[in-house]
Amino acid sequence: MIEIKSEREIALLKEAGRIVALCHEEMTKQVRPGVSTQELNDICEKIILEHNATPSFKGYGGFPSAVCASVNEVVVHGIPSKKQILKEGDIVALDIGACYKGYHGDSAWSYAVGNISPKDKLLMQVTHDSLFKGLEQVREGAHLGDVSAAIGNYATSYGFGVVEEFTGHGVGRNLHEDPAIFNFGEPGTGPILKEGMVLAIEPMINAGTKKVRILSDGWTTITKDKSKSAHFEHTIVVRKNGYEILTTL
Ligand code: MG
Ligand code: MG
Repeated sequence: MIEIKSEREIALLKEAGRIVALCHEEMTKQVRPGVSTQELNDICEKIILEHNATPSFKGYGGFPSAVCASVNEVVVHGIPSKKQILKEGDIVALDIGACYKGYHGDSAWSYAVGNISPKDKLLMQVTHDSLFKGLEQVREGAHLGDVSAAIGNYATSYGFGVVEEFTGHGVGRNLHEDPAIFNFGEPGTGPILKEGMVLAIEPMINAGTKKVRILSDGWTTITKDKSKSAHFEHTIVVRKNGYEILTTL
């Protein structure tokens, strides 16, 4: 069942989203060659705690950290580490969640570490734009499949691989709620969107194959061909004639 949130709940979700956005704003300054993914994690965790929120991911299903830091061929769920020092030319996706007064905000962005190749720049740009292609479809009365198809068709038009094993999701008092939001699909299929649904839409796009593999730590998910992967995500609320982004300042 897809919950409809009240305006009171949406206000709390918006505050959770704002805290996540503050983390991303800081990350735009902190991501650079020489910084470890653990340092980035710790900065975000501090910001979240300072705003009377808690990191949504820490302890979720046993995940050990506040932030998922997924470097290069890592698609999602990379575990921050002191040993992982970012270097010029890397791309890193930082997925950040904050829980404020029981409500979650969830947003991921991919960042360039110093100068990156034109190929990697394109992958990041197309992944970012595919999120907004999907968002353009969001309004009361649209089908969820319209959103999924817009994302997938845009990314595949560049020859990129659209990850199928992980999806976006509803958000609220739980980090992951109904519905699962695939990044590929058919227009006119799936649930019909209603005002007040809160959704985390999150394309995960690979430069090469769409196929992924989970490493022995049980979390780190990489592309099967070791090609690079990008990830962008916003938590949004469905409105009558469109959508409102909650994970923003
Ligand atoms: Mg996320
Ligand atoms: Mg998410």
